[in-house]
Amino acid sequence: MRAPFAQWLGATNDITRTFLAAGQIPDLINLAGGLPEPSTYPVEALAAIARDVVERYPQQVLGYGPVEGLPELRDALATRFSSASLSLDRTNVLVTSAGMQGLDLIGKVLLDSGGLIAGQFPTYLGALDAWRPRSPTFRKLRLDGPGFEPVSALAGAQFAYTVPNFSNPTGKLVGVEMRQALVDAAHHTGTWLVEDDPYGGLHYDGAPAPRMIELSGRRSPGAPYRGPVVYMGTLSKEIAPGLRIGWVVAAPEMIEALSLAKQGADMCTSGLTQRIALAAIEAGLIEQIQPTLIDTYRRRRDALCAAMAEHLGEWFDWDVPTGGMFVWAVARDPALDTDRLLTHALAAGVCFAPSSVFDAASAYKQAIRINFTYNSPERLAQGVRRLAGALRTMTTGS
Ligand code: PMP
Repeated sequence: MRAPFAQWLGATNDITRTFLAAGQIPDLINLAGGLPEPSTYPVEALAAIARDVVERYPQQVLGYGPVEGLPELRDALATRFSSASLSLDRTNVLVTSAGMQGLDLIGKVLLDSGGLIAGQFPTYLGALDAWRPRSPTFRKLRLDGPGFEPVSALAGAQFAYTVPNFSNPTGKLVGVEMRQALVDAAHHTGTWLVEDDPYGGLHYDGAPAPRMIELSGRRSPGAPYRGPVVYMGTLSKEIAPGLRIGWVVAAPEMIEALSLAKQGADMCTSGLTQRIALAAIEAGLIEQIQPTLIDTYRRRRDALCAAMAEHLGEWFDWDVPTGGMFVWAVARDPALDTDRLLTHALAAGVCFAPSSVFDAASAYKQAIRINFTYNSPERLAQGVRRLAGALRTMTTGS
């Protein structure tokens, strides 16, 4: 007999596998993933940069590099996020193999088995996946719920986890007062406050509120940053996910701890993609692409919401998101089971992410997450019509 697999594997879900299998279904309209529109990838610019950096820095890009990341990229990121009140240098920055690795490392350095996470609810599926091997317990932070009290919500947790800009899965923006309240509570309680921010650049109706790490820095303007906010970013949504480049900006003691964990994970992020990222950032590629992304995604959001208003209003309520990649629709009937709906939807040729995968206990089944960045407006509308058909089949049996 073979040795058994670790116990946490039995507690996970196979939704990602379902989605991958769904990719094999011909003509399926995939509204499930958080994927960018591939035609926005800056192919020519990245190809030119890639050739240039291999020729100019062959040993650096093809050899191993420092665990913490390429020093010049750490400096560039420190400069990018510094302000009059937030003083950062490279000791505040760790380069990661994209955002997912930041989440994984956070779990490794802060969670012992069964540790407590105070997580914005519903919670990003990838974060739940990253932390599941530690069998954590979750305290649900319902930031817009009645009577939410930040100090008691954070007290005693190993860390708090939030996606304040256009959250995955809800698309919601956390307002500046709540950000300030969370930052104050983190300083008061000493709880690390993770600010996961892949979507901050994707805003369609006005700019997002100040970052929580910025608000935290304002408490001692100009002093080297030592506060409790752990800010995470990525190039995945603003340039291309295949680069696998992300970063953590935090107090030096946190960067040191994360670096120790990274040493045992992948030793270092690819020197090639770090050099490409640095050159891309220095050339202003993020700023060059951003208007196209915003324009394309705003039109797609509007197309999706128009189709939803026409076809799904009978069953669901939703807010139009002001940024990000997702619409979160909550069933009017609390008994509507969106796991079951997914089976009907797949049969009708469309898929979405059901709310159960954003709940550590897999219990919340009343909502769905619909992505609007990956499909054309026409495909989005067709997907919504198929979803309405699936709802009709499920609720009336016809
Ligand atoms: N955090 C959140 C909230 C996300 O939605 C994602 C991507 N779906 C990530 C982190 C990680 O993305 P990546 O590893 O591509 O940077």
